[in-house]
Amino acid sequence: EAFIANIEAANPAINAYVAVTADKARDMAKASDAKLAKGEGGALEGIPLGIKDLFATEGVHTQACSHILDGFKPKYESTVTSNLWADGAVMLGKLNMDEFAMGSSNETSYYGNVINPWRKAGSNEDLVPGGSSGGSAAAVAARLCMGATATDTGGSIRQPAALTGTVGIKPTYGRCSRWGVVAFASSLDQAGPIAHTVRDSAILLKSMASVDPKDTTSVDIAVPDYEAAIGKSVKGLKIGIPAEYRVEGMSEEIDALWQKGIQWLKDAGAEIVDISLPNTKYALPAYYIVAPAEASSNLARYDGVRYGLRVPGNDIVDMYENTRAAGFGEEVKRRILIGTYVLSAGYYDAYYLKAQKVRSLIKRDFDLAWANGVDAILTPATPSAAFAIGDKEMHADPVKMYLQDVFTVTVNMAGLPGLSVPAGLSSEGLPLGLQLIGKPFDESTLFQLGSVIE
Ligand code: GLN
Repeated sequence: EAFIANIEAANPAINAYVAVTADKARDMAKASDAKLAKGEGGALEGIPLGIKDLFATEGVHTQACSHILDGFKPKYESTVTSNLWADGAVMLGKLNMDEFAMGSSNETSYYGNVINPWRKAGSNEDLVPGGSSGGSAAAVAARLCMGATATDTGGSIRQPAALTGTVGIKPTYGRCSRWGVVAFASSLDQAGPIAHTVRDSAILLKSMASVDPKDTTSVDIAVPDYEAAIGKSVKGLKIGIPAEYRVEGMSEEIDALWQKGIQWLKDAGAEIVDISLPNTKYALPAYYIVAPAEASSNLARYDGVRYGLRVPGNDIVDMYENTRAAGFGEEVKRRILIGTYVLSAGYYDAYYLKAQKVRSLIKRDFDLAWANGVDAILTPATPSAAFAIGDKEMHADPVKMYLQDVFTVTVNMAGLPGLSVPAGLSSEGLPLGLQLIGKPFDESTLFQLGSVIE
């Protein structure tokens, strides 16, 4: 009831929820109460959560915040949300996001901007919460849920977490099932939690993760008790500091934050080593070939026949065209155009194939670091704090917006786990985050180190 009241009071201004399922939440909470009264119940019994609009929730608004999915209510539940409900969690509603998870500021949503609950000291200017999981991050930061599901294809969990002072983890590719998660770029997409603390994130991820016969890329590796890693000594752990992440034009503030993080881990007994990940500079351009390529293919299914919106036409092709023209927003159309271009017969070798080769090199850089005994890597999470809604510079050139992901995309390209943890405030009083990158399926070490930083 407290969370429902908070949502009623604050959501009209923040716009984090696009659908509130208050009745369902009350029913689920009652069922949890009954279980707890009998001394039963799961790890998340009665815990109210918000769900990113990208997850299929049976009978409930699931539109990836796109116009083209108008009115779509799936007849099935995603594996990740099923896992959460099986552990007793309660659904408060569906959370705003960039359309089809394409964006870094939540400004591409058909349902409008999300307002970051944080403001610069002494300012009334509305700021973005980051994206694409902007609704998830803002809902957690504004206490409109205890935790939220999110997804990350190039940074969409970690960047909004950093910009709202929350904790977000993108687990290893294959840790969570993608079944029932609306596909953006299938070889990069992963689900994960956004929460208040490292401990909350550990508890949520434990519940979300599972191998799933319905997603053949999910991996059958036991999900450890992540919570047990928190508070364990980090003495002797080897932390890599990659030279290539000191990107051109990096602000002093971000650099200072990074140095602070290094010092905290050193003080806690970790060993700091300089490392090189030489192919880092190719990650962002390669990502913006691979991700749109896969997106253009995944989005072919929205044809006005199977889901949501249909805009009639003179014949079936005309109907497809009218539906897609009206249903997709500008950024989604841009991705479809890039994607179909790089996959077209004349350009496949020059772009898509080349990007896939670069992807292998990026992964090899990390493999070499692990082979040299590095346990985890520390970098900044984002190149800046939250920026203004409608920021002119960001909107004049889409590449400026894409640069928000400069520290996060490498992790998706290599399939690794990445944790974003709040590490301090900017000179203007806005939250800033640091990122810890781990070995495949070693999320535990990230939680262990993250709890030293938070
Ligand atoms: N901002 C990146 C993009 O627009 C990443 C989005 C994501 O991780 N879903 O593609």
